[in-house]
Amino acid sequence: MGGNKKTPVMRKANQKVRDDVRRGNRTKPSNCSNCGKKTAKNLLASHHSNHKNKSSIKWLCPKCHKGAEKRKPGGKVN
Ligand SMILES: [Zn+2]
Repeated sequence: MGGNKKTPVMRKANQKVRDDVRRGNRTKPSNCSNCGKKTAKNLLASHHSNHKNKSSIKWLCPKCHKGAEKRKPGGKVN
């Protein structure tokens, strides 16, 4: 311990998802996990509702993702 800065978990997790998708380990749906709207795969954004459970990932359309990001106070994600 000591001068370690806090690890940007969010960025790391997102990188992991991107890697998984690239490797074909994780399949992207074609609909938003929140509103169910059909969304182009390249527009769907992965959203981790629970960072302790890496498998709980939601795929959100740009609109829902914006809303989800907005809800976190001070840039914190829970
Ligand atoms: Zn949506």
